[in-house]
Amino acid sequence: MNETIVKLDVEKIRSEFPTLHQEVYGKPLIYFDNGATAQKPQSVIDAVAKYYSKDNANIHRGVHHLSQVATEQYEEARKIIQKAINAPTSEQVLFTKGTTDGINLVAYSYGQLLKAGDEIIISEMEHHSNIVPWQMLCERQGCVLKVIPINEKGELKMDVFESFLSDKTKLVSVTHISNTLGTINPIKEIIEKAHVVGAKVLIDGAQSIQHAKVDMQELDCDFFAFSGHKVFGPTGVGILYGKKEVLDSMPPYQGGGDMIAKVTFEKTTYNELPHKFEAGTPNIAGGICLGTAFEYLNNLDMEAVHAHEQELLEYAESELKKINGIRLIGTADKKTSVVSFVVEGTHPFDIGTLLDKQGVAVRTGHHCTQPLMDIFQIPGTVRASFAFYNTKEEIDVFITALKRSVNMLL
Ligand SMILES: *Cc1c(COP(=O)(O)O)cnc(C)c1O
Repeated sequence: MNETIVKLDVEKIRSEFPTLHQEVYGKPLIYFDNGATAQKPQSVIDAVAKYYSKDNANIHRGVHHLSQVATEQYEEARKIIQKAINAPTSEQVLFTKGTTDGINLVAYSYGQLLKAGDEIIISEMEHHSNIVPWQMLCERQGCVLKVIPINEKGELKMDVFESFLSDKTKLVSVTHISNTLGTINPIKEIIEKAHVVGAKVLIDGAQSIQHAKVDMQELDCDFFAFSGHKVFGPTGVGILYGKKEVLDSMPPYQGGGDMIAKVTFEKTTYNELPHKFEAGTPNIAGGICLGTAFEYLNNLDMEAVHAHEQELLEYAESELKKINGIRLIGTADKKTSVVSFVVEGTHPFDIGTLLDKQGVAVRTGHHCTQPLMDIFQIPGTVRASFAFYNTKEEIDVFITALKRSVNMLL
């Protein structure tokens, strides 16, 4: 199987990402913070400039030429994204501000259909964005939050998940891939089991599309949320996919322009999908250029991407394990290209600061997963998260810089 995979042309790919080619503190930048946000290919940067220098106009409103051009491009981007994630129709692909916004939309809107005593299941490895909106919903409506525990490797305890499921379960909201641990969760199985008891399932896809193809119809999830900026597109834009009948059953999230059919002071009726959930002037350039980012991804061989990233992951882990006092946080059997670790006797922040001075950008801290840090009984980790444009040579520089940093601190 392996030998049929075409090798990724990493040099060519790197040449398409201008931010990668710079120095910080006189050292070549090594960007290992892709879990926080990804760099943008030239085509996306060009598309942003083109929109603002040629096509800028408000959408869905104008009779004039530019407004029609902008509207067409925005709706075309929606279709590109629909195809890429294999959603049945483009009206089920809602533009949002990002993953956080998408999850809040569901918590607020779908949440209004819930009542006291209804149960929502999340997991211990969730990002704050997939914890706090549900806590707020539970406070508003008296729902009950249940949290799937993880084992010491950072994998969900599926037997406990199954024991939580009952006819009280209304929603299961879990991450596809953990931003802190790299764990790839068995979401297909989770979706199937949740559906048996009639619960809906939201997948936090903030860390998935950049690493693998996702298929809404194959997954059969009810909601899927992700952010543009982590999939090589702009900040401030994201997508919430939803099943049509579920979205149709939900009340609007925000009121304003574009989401209405007719407004009078007596009664307002709402527009159809997707506009019902898209109040106000959106991030038009962001939406269009997220389409451009998907066009970029469409031209990549995702199997080759996967093989390359797995090679980086295995190499980084094996090199890290050679360093005294290192503890890897997140050692699931199925992992994406994220390594989180702590070094005995040092603080993650100090390591991160020293790495930065050597040109290596990593993230330190709790990664918006504070409860997870409590479970591992650590204040935070150093996290290196790799994208397809990273290389083994960069990992060598990182390992050398890390050893030097640890020696300085101990
Ligand atoms: C980044 C991230 C989020 C939040 O995404 P925003 O772009 O900040 O809205 C949610 N969940 C996971 C797993 C993430 O990695």
